[in-house]
Amino acid sequence: MADQRYLVLARKWRPQQFEDVVGQEHISRTLKNAISSGRIHHAFLFIGSRGIGKTTTARILAKALNCLSYKEPTVTPCGTCENCRAIGEGSSIDVIEIDGASNNKVEDVREIRENIRMVPSSGRYKVYIIDEVHQLSTSAFNALLKTLEEPPPHAIFVLATTEAHKIPATIISRCQRYDFRRVPIPAIVELLRKILRQESIQASDEALYAIARAAEGGVRDAESILDQLISYCDKEITFQDVFDVLGLVDWKVMHTLCDAILNKDIGRLLALVEDVVSSGKDLSQFVQEILRYYRNLLVIKTAQGADLLHLPEEEQNEAQQRAQRYTLTNLIRLVEQFATLTSGFDSQLAQRIALESLLIRISKVGVELSVDTVLEKLLLLESFGTAVVPPEPSDPPRATLVKP
Ligand SMILES: [Zn+2]
Repeated sequence: MADQRYLVLARKWRPQQFEDVVGQEHISRTLKNAISSGRIHHAFLFIGSRGIGKTTTARILAKALNCLSYKEPTVTPCGTCENCRAIGEGSSIDVIEIDGASNNKVEDVREIRENIRMVPSSGRYKVYIIDEVHQLSTSAFNALLKTLEEPPPHAIFVLATTEAHKIPATIISRCQRYDFRRVPIPAIVELLRKILRQESIQASDEALYAIARAAEGGVRDAESILDQLISYCDKEITFQDVFDVLGLVDWKVMHTLCDAILNKDIGRLLALVEDVVSSGKDLSQFVQEILRYYRNLLVIKTAQGADLLHLPEEEQNEAQQRAQRYTLTNLIRLVEQFATLTSGFDSQLAQRIALESLLIRISKVGVELSVDTVLEKLLLLESFGTAVVPPEPSDPPRATLVKP
């Protein structure tokens, strides 16, 4: 049942026009300009992380080129003619979608080269969409390069990849490059709202922001989380539902953990880990949540960044109180240590937070922190006057309780 519903949702909400692709307006505009000015390049390279609209945009481009409702390529494909529908269903003879991961051999590319000579059967162009193109073997890339060097006039290539650095420079130089962006949280929330309105399902803003945060800029991930939630909740989605469905640890647990760290309550800390493990939650996910939590405290402390976080008001206040109890240097240390712990997970979040904390470190503190407890004391004194419990020099990564 859930799968069926998901299929319906995903198909229903797949963008049909360039302007419907959320968060990639820069790309839509450039493509539309190219089409309406008649300067259509024969090879496009779409770069960006998964689930943010590369294949969707490639399909819209294919429709734009081959739509039968217009005599020439259009920026607003009709979506209803035979060609548009076939492309939407993936059954068009002239639009060939190839998964580079499973068709990565030189023979596969040779097949394309033989096939490409034939003129399109019902469209104006033959469009080859090669997904995950970085997976091609070296000999396959060489064969592809030959095709890109002298393509027949009716052939258009769209090469899509999550890993541009694995593509030979000779290929890149033959393509027009388009960099897809991760989608900002408010744009994802807006999209989710639109879908829910149409589906007549209620959801709180807190819930929608929680989904968008968890999706980390990926539209497809956000839609798939939403789909799970619809199956789980039916007509109304709450903040707590999002936590339950995603297996996230409740923020109250994060506050408790934070307090236990501040109070050096090791028994409590170990009990919290025990709770997480025994409730079957994923420990690496838990560490990421801790990292996200401390990142939030760091943002609150340094950037007056309430708006950056998109937290519900109550959470914001709770986090604010705790941020005040840490020194800046201790927060940076905590974030860096948890980031190191998660870096083994190959996480986008860990990379981003490591970068952010480095930026904060160099701009706010301007010195190497790890060597100097003396400097730390000086900073504390400078920030808070003299009413400070000074840190003990012998045990560095710890929370210092500051009494204002
Ligand atoms: Zn059409």
